[in-house]
Amino acid sequence: MAEDQNCIFCKIVAGELPANPVWQDEDVIAIQDIAPKAPIHLLVIPKKHVADVVEAAADPKLSAAILRAVAEVARQEGLTDFNTVFNTGPNSGQSVFHVHGHILAGKNVWTGATD
Ligand code: AMP
Repeated sequence: MAEDQNCIFCKIVAGELPANPVWQDEDVIAIQDIAPKAPIHLLVIPKKHVADVVEAAADPKLSAAILRAVAEVARQEGLTDFNTVFNTGPNSGQSVFHVHGHILAGKNVWTGATD
């Protein structure tokens, strides 16, 4: 059962909403973003519900698991150059209040460069 019934990422973690994980371990899953902002756009989502990186930082084990997952997903997908974004707070564009890292590749989200 989802840890937080109002959270779409908790529902994905619990299998109550469909998603095809591209990678997972005990603590984290990675899925394709449903509305990609770059040719490759993956989300790294801890299975435990915490709102954002500020909350996640209070749990060093969870923080390490999230960063390790970013590296493992990038390695698995053959990515050497990519942007990692953690939106924090509604004014940053955060729309799902369950911490997640965006992995974006194939287009630099800062400069717009595609190579
Ligand atoms: P943020 O705006 O940083 O909170 O990012 C939330 C991201 O989750 C957005 O890029 C959405 O496109 C993505 N998203 C929302 N619902 C789903 C879903 N069911 N499956 C995959 N990605 C989703």
